[in-house]
Amino acid sequence: MIDILSLTKDELRGILEERGFKKYRYKQIFSFLHKHLIDDFDEITVIKKSVREELKGIFCIKDSKNVQEELSNDNAVKYLFEFDDSVSIESVLIPMKDDKSRFTICVSTQAGCKMGCLFCATGKMGFKRNLTASEIIFQIRYIVKKHHLENINVVYMGMGEPLDNYENVIKSIKILSDEDGLNISKRKITLSTCGIVPSIERLKQDLPNINIALSLHSAINKKRDLLMPINKTYPLDAVMRSLKGFPLPHRKRITFEYVMIKGVNDTEEDKKALLKLLSTYKSKLNIIPLNKHQLMDVDIEPSSSEKIEEFSRYLREKGVFVTVRKSKGSSINAACGMLATCGRSAFKTS
Ligand code: SAH
Ligand code: SF4
Repeated sequence: MIDILSLTKDELRGILEERGFKKYRYKQIFSFLHKHLIDDFDEITVIKKSVREELKGIFCIKDSKNVQEELSNDNAVKYLFEFDDSVSIESVLIPMKDDKSRFTICVSTQAGCKMGCLFCATGKMGFKRNLTASEIIFQIRYIVKKHHLENINVVYMGMGEPLDNYENVIKSIKILSDEDGLNISKRKITLSTCGIVPSIERLKQDLPNINIALSLHSAINKKRDLLMPINKTYPLDAVMRSLKGFPLPHRKRITFEYVMIKGVNDTEEDKKALLKLLSTYKSKLNIIPLNKHQLMDVDIEPSSSEKIEEFSRYLREKGVFVTVRKSKGSSINAACGMLATCGRSAFKTS
């Protein structure tokens, strides 16, 4: 059986044409799947039963065998999706602060992660497997359908490193942004990466219009080595060079994420290095106070709010565009870096 939700519109057209389906079918079926979000071919009542039966013999529409959800005290909703092989992942629905009709969905791309960043719960749970394009898309279609959402941003900032699952992630973005599907503008899609240089190079060619966020966390190479092991393979200067060539849409900036850790990356030397590094980029610095979680095995603490304020004021005064992100969802382990589906009870059992 072919996993139909993993197919781009062109791939679907190829398969259907090869099997002698009418020329217009691929668009019709793609649209029922990705715009009307059907879960069963029998919901496509405009297609004759015999054709629907034929489709059922070729394709399956993947879903999740178990879904759980939990609401945080700041209105974020965390979802746990369990797939056929019992692998489970998490996604988060986050309401926008100033516009109640707009939401951000944070999706996972892998069950676990190989990158082992010092502070991250997903990194600590180890790596289970890549998600398929349909499993990435499923997170969005389920949440959009359940809440009848129309206005969404998608951030690839959940479990896993998106650029370590390149093909499936790219496919999922192509499908989500297809005009015959959910038609989510690429400008509303952000991919966050720890900095895998060859994949950033490919991304420039394949999807130049999406927003990119780099998990920076230190502007000092040696320090970044300690926080993020990937920096030993792709050091800071190589990552920054590669980002320089990223074609930015009008008025867009590259986001640099910076988890602030007390005494580790919030000192005078860090501030100055950061200013120097960002001064030649069209950038936006997103400071995230470290979220503590139960899988943390090092003794680190978030910087104080006074420290964050002082740090960000210094950079702002020098012309850096800085935002401080108070992660939503920390009461239910749904904030940045807290997603993990082993090692602790992610969901309350009732
Ligand atoms: N793998 C990708 C995307 C997922 S992580 C990446 O690393 O960019 C999403 C963001 O959460 C990253 O910026 C990551 O560094 C940050 N993060 C990880 N652990 C965190 C923690 N304990 N507290 C705050 N942010 C964290
Ligand atoms: Fe993986 Fe990102 Fe977590 Fe690092 S911060 S371990 S790259 S999910």
